[in-house]
Parts: sequence; C-alpha cells; structure tokens
Amino acid sequence: MTRQAIVAANWKMNGNLSLVKEMVSGLKQVTLASNVNVVVCPSFPYLAAFSAESAEQSLSATICLGAQNMSEQQSGAFTGEVSSEMLTEVSAKYVILGHSERRTLYKESSTLVASKVTKALEAGLIPILCIGESEEERISDQTETVLASQIQPVIDAIGIEKFSGVVIAYEPVWAIGTGKTASPEMAQETHAFIRQYLANESQKIAQKVPLLYGGSVNRGNFEQLFAQTDIDGGLIGGASLNVDEFSVICSAA
Ligand code: PEP
Repeated sequence: MTRQAIVAANWKMNGNLSLVKEMVSGLKQVTLASNVNVVVCPSFPYLAAFSAESAEQSLSATICLGAQNMSEQQSGAFTGEVSSEMLTEVSAKYVILGHSERRTLYKESSTLVASKVTKALEAGLIPILCIGESEEERISDQTETVLASQIQPVIDAIGIEKFSGVVIAYEPVWAIGTGKTASPEMAQETHAFIRQYLANESQKIAQKVPLLYGGSVNRGNFEQLFAQTDIDGGLIGGASLNVDEFSVICSAA
C-alpha cells in the first residue's frame, strides 16, 4: 500500500514575514512526488500571511499550512489561546500537537494532548501527534513503554478508527535540535514498534497512518531515513528555516 508521505516544517518561534514570502516562492519551484504533501507550520501571526501569499503565488494545494499548537477548548475566556476553528478559518489543514517542547516546557500531559487531538479532528484538522522518549528513557530501555503511554490516551479518546485521520511524528527528544539523529536502523525499529502498536488494535488503520521521523533531519541525512519501510517522511525543525535546504528535502522525498 502506498501511504501518504509528508514533509512538515516546524518553524517553532522563528521566522518572519520575509521568510513567509521566500518560502512560498522557494516551494513554488519544487516538483513534488505524487504521494507527497508538504506542510509548513509557522507561528500563529504568520498563518494568515502564509495562506494569502500561497493564494497570491498560486501555490500547489499539496503544499499546505499547519499550526504548531492549539487549545483543547472551543472558545471563551482562555487568554492567549488559539482555537481549532480559528486555525481552519485561516486555512490551516494540519496542527502539530504534543511536541516535546510543549510536553516538557509547558507541562502538557498525554491526556491533555489527547483532548487536543479530539478537538482538532472535530474541526476537520489533521493532527500531527508528536511522541518520543528522552535520552535517559532510551538508555534505561523505556522507549517502548513511553511511546505506548503517549499513544494509548489518544486511542482511548478517539478510538482506533479515527487514527486514519491522524499523522504520528516520532521525535526522540535527544535528537531534537541537537544535531544527533537516530540511525536509520534505530528509527526504523521504533517506527515498526509504533505501527505494530496500532496494528494490535487495527491492522487496516496501522497500514494507513503516516509515521514521520523528526530530530535533526537535514539535507545530509534525510534520504537514508526516508528510505526506511515504516518512515513516511519527516518533521523538520532547524533545516526548515532554510528555503534551499527545505526545498531539496521536499523535492527528493
Ligand atoms: C522539531 O522541532 O520538531 C525538530 C525535529 O527540530 P530539529 O529538526 O531542529 O531537530
């Protein structure tokens, strides 16, 4: 089965209006393989600008917009929060949820992340659910237990069938922004575990869910990673701020 491949850019709290314009112009030059979607996730203030610039430059519909987070609440007195419907109104199609920086710096629990996934699906957004273990957890052989503890609350919240509308990004915490990447073999082994975990609930759904790898992916290492059987693309941080580098990764994915 050919799964949807996805290359997603997580700009984090970086970028500006100039980068929005440069990225849209750069991506306009890229020819994507037929099963590849590109998702650019800038900070909230640039979502509408990215959407307008994409329309202005008639960017392909396979290059989409995503947000980096959203509230689990519908609307109301939640100062500083952004709702799922606000995201869809500015044409976001995807939303990154449960990024390790949200889990560690902002203490987001897997239960909260599961509520956000539920809310995102209700609004018609595609959640990119991030999971991953810390270095200590890997060393102490806890990787699979940690990943299961991050996936299971989402299965409990939405049911396995709705996972057909979810993307999972496996991002070992020790590889994010550190320059240390999981070896292709290590990444494949962990992706295979994630797919098997879903398959224990539904083989059909497990075969559909795109599993992305994230953690210091760059133009020098993406090809070997993306060539693995259970790796369907990447979630890219630092390297996605460089238009040329990100374009190379997208065009060869
Ligand atoms: C990320 O922020 O999701 C990420 C993978 O960052 P980097 O590529 O910089 O490691």
